[in-house]
Amino acid sequence: MQLMTTYKEDNYPIIIQHNALTELNQFLTNYRDVVFIIDKNVEHAHPNKLNQALSSIVPEQITHVIRIEGSEQSKSFEVYQSVLEQLLEKGITRNTCIVAIGGGVTGDFSGFVAATLLRGVDFIQVPTTILAHDSSVGGKVGINTPQGKNLVGAFYRPSAVIYDLDFLTSLPYTEITSGYAEVYKHALLNGQAALNDIELNFPDRSSLAALHHLDDFLLKGIETKLNIVVADEHEQGKRKFLNLGHTFGHAIEYHEKIAHGHAVMIGILYQFIVSNLLLHTNYDIQHFKDYFKQLDYPLEVVLNADFEPLLELMLKDKKNDKNGIQMVLLSSIGNPVVHHVDNDVLAEAFTQLQNIIK
Ligand code: NAD
Ligand code: ZN
Repeated sequence: MQLMTTYKEDNYPIIIQHNALTELNQFLTNYRDVVFIIDKNVEHAHPNKLNQALSSIVPEQITHVIRIEGSEQSKSFEVYQSVLEQLLEKGITRNTCIVAIGGGVTGDFSGFVAATLLRGVDFIQVPTTILAHDSSVGGKVGINTPQGKNLVGAFYRPSAVIYDLDFLTSLPYTEITSGYAEVYKHALLNGQAALNDIELNFPDRSSLAALHHLDDFLLKGIETKLNIVVADEHEQGKRKFLNLGHTFGHAIEYHEKIAHGHAVMIGILYQFIVSNLLLHTNYDIQHFKDYFKQLDYPLEVVLNADFEPLLELMLKDKKNDKNGIQMVLLSSIGNPVVHHVDNDVLAEAFTQLQNIIK
């Protein structure tokens, strides 16, 4: 299956299928140097896949392989500097393509290296996690600083995304749930029918662990994200909707050191409570809580936290202005709005969240 972005120019293909790596060679023919940046865990789980990728190279081309740790620490200035220096040391030219093989960490990091090396070389994303159906599309790349996540980066489109679904079979269940939160978020942005479909298809832990028909939902998720980012690449308007669940999510992720998607799912639950308080919607909070619990999301971390530090983190989030917290809420399923939320509503929603999780 192949999608094409629909920007005015510089479009790129997104190929989503099993064994999609066989498509890689057609995108590499014109480069002098090809740099593979690969997550060590991915190489360990799929040694044959790196060989398959390397076999896309013709003898005249120069190949480089850089291995990085598959953890958030790789998105740091230290690793960034070291990788840039290694490549410059080898006399790399602008006629280079960087191929990122890994999850969101590898993609964000490699994309930022590509955006800045010699003022920009081409890059290709080969996502290997469920979460990366989200991170590999839309062109946001970057690294972290001690002040926060993703604070240094760029908007930089890849020249192709090659989503080889065979990689997903080795994901541990916690990474499946982390990625599923963004797939579920895309369904919520899409509409009630999409939400019904996804909950019906993944009613419990075993269906999710088995990745039952996951391909269809990844495709729908990518389509939903693409529609938004093509209309608003630089997040001046509707791209903000993709932050659904992320305001509270980022705060609880940082505070409790939990996986991104686990935090986003908790943020989605919180957002439903805020919507009921502020927009007078009538979401069945118990239903969502039971569903997330059923899938084994670590909702109980909310019971360890106090509201004040979370509020401080939410106020610091780069998506907020000085007037307070701007949050994405669902005025109905499929209809996101960006709304200003006062502190007392946030506090009340937090109390309700704790009570329902207890
Ligand atoms: P990740 O890249 O750290 O991968 C999660 C874990 O799974 C790691 O330990 C990794 O080594 C391992 N792994 C990767 N592929 C595997 C496979 N096929 N089999 C077994 N293990 C595998 O994290 P992620 O969840 O993919 O992405 C999170 C990152 O994405 C965060 O840094 C976040 O900021 C970023 N992100 C970026 C965007 C964007 O638009 N650029 C959007 C969402 C998230
Ligand atoms: Zn996210």
